[in-house]
Amino acid sequence: MVTQPRIGVLALQGDVPEHLHALGEAGAQAVAVKTLAGLAAVDGLVIPGGESTTIGMLLERYGLMAPLRERIAAGMPLYGTCAGLILMAREVEGSEQPRLGCMDITVRRNAYGRQVDSFEVDVPAPELGGTNPLRAVFIRAPQITAIGPEVRILAEMPNGPILVRQGSLLGGTFHPEMTEDRRVHAYFRRMVQEQ
Ligand code: GLN
Repeated sequence: MVTQPRIGVLALQGDVPEHLHALGEAGAQAVAVKTLAGLAAVDGLVIPGGESTTIGMLLERYGLMAPLRERIAAGMPLYGTCAGLILMAREVEGSEQPRLGCMDITVRRNAYGRQVDSFEVDVPAPELGGTNPLRAVFIRAPQITAIGPEVRILAEMPNGPILVRQGSLLGGTFHPEMTEDRRVHAYFRRMVQEQ
């Protein structure tokens, strides 16, 4: 087991520096990943929030989509937030956008409508450790509308799951990198260490 795993943040578009900072605070060696060589050098990967259509298009343009799928199939832990989660979803309602499609979930993009661009909610998350609730920040967030039998819910709101895990895959509809709470990044760091 490595003591300080090397975790990449896919740096094609989106809020990359915030995740690098959060991963560092959570005890990982955090590096930006833009290339095939960069992908090969990490033990786990975070796909940040941003614009899922743009990130998906750039993954294909830079020849990273297929190699990333291979790493995931070989068991590399992956954590997607927001746009990153959309890229992981097997189904995106009403969209055929390029994506990894590796997680057995269905998502609805921009599910909270244009009136509610962003908002914050405190949710219980006992599986992450600690008794205090988790502050979840949503920014033009997707909603998880269906999950497969192998998907476990780690946190949820009345309208559905907001943090889910399927084996070595972790996905959330909110942005823990925007808060000071490092429990989600630390949870992912442990997933990488245990791999
Ligand atoms: N609305 C964006 C999308 O559909 C996701 C927003 C985000 O990542 N904060 O890709």
